[in-house]
Amino acid sequence: MTNFNSQAAANLADLATPPGAGAYGHQRQQMVHQQLMGRGITDARVLEAMLEVPRHCFVPPSEVRCAYWDQPLPTSQGQTISQPYIVAFMTDIAAIPAQGRVLEVGTGSGYQAAILAKLATTVYSIEIIDSLARQAQQTLAELGYENIHIKQGNGYQGWPEHAPYDAILVTAAPTRVPSALVDQLAMGGKLVVPVGYSSQTILVITRHLTGVSTEYTIPVRFVPMIGEEPGEGPVPTAGANPGQGMA
Ligand code: SAH
Repeated sequence: MTNFNSQAAANLADLATPPGAGAYGHQRQQMVHQQLMGRGITDARVLEAMLEVPRHCFVPPSEVRCAYWDQPLPTSQGQTISQPYIVAFMTDIAAIPAQGRVLEVGTGSGYQAAILAKLATTVYSIEIIDSLARQAQQTLAELGYENIHIKQGNGYQGWPEHAPYDAILVTAAPTRVPSALVDQLAMGGKLVVPVGYSSQTILVITRHLTGVSTEYTIPVRFVPMIGEEPGEGPVPTAGANPGQGMA
């Protein structure tokens, strides 16, 4: 957790003073420094987004004091808000271009969508549980986000009306790669998705002119994706996994 590399240190030095000085700003700085840079996240745009978004505004009142801890937290309806490192890791490997259009499946609290909205031009996010979609919409509106569009629905089919996407992040776990999401990737676009049963591997599927390539990254535990249909995509195999994460 303390083996910072020089690129990460340079990136931290470049970061502006976070908004919302005081305890939460300080906790966010510590979170970025220790949990993210300490584990090798170096992209300044990702670090800056994680430094700016007030995570404590996305958790239930009973969890506010733990908002910046190195762990996932419960939200309502038995769902979770992912560990900060996993949010940063997925955002990082999605390689979102500056003018990018991004789809998220599994809005939950809206926290990951808020991070994505700092990097992309427009974020579309789908949540299957209506009350969560409404709550996230309200939280994001109160915080002033205008480039996030949320709808209630089954994200297994994606959101074809706004495709293609430069990146698609799935924050609930299907047992196979949803083929509709692969179809909605732009050329060069990346689908970041935890695939598996009780534990999963985060896959990065990149669309090329000639087809798709699949990269296997870290093992994680996400809540299962609801409303899944049988698919044809790959099921991850045990591979050389560099680390362990908790969603
Ligand atoms: N990204 C969220 C955390 C996601 S938890 C955050 O930042 O807080 C996973 C979410 O995926 C849950 O809210 C769950 O209701 C939702 N979900 C599960 N299956 C889904 C599906 N088929 N389509 C859309 N959302 C789904």
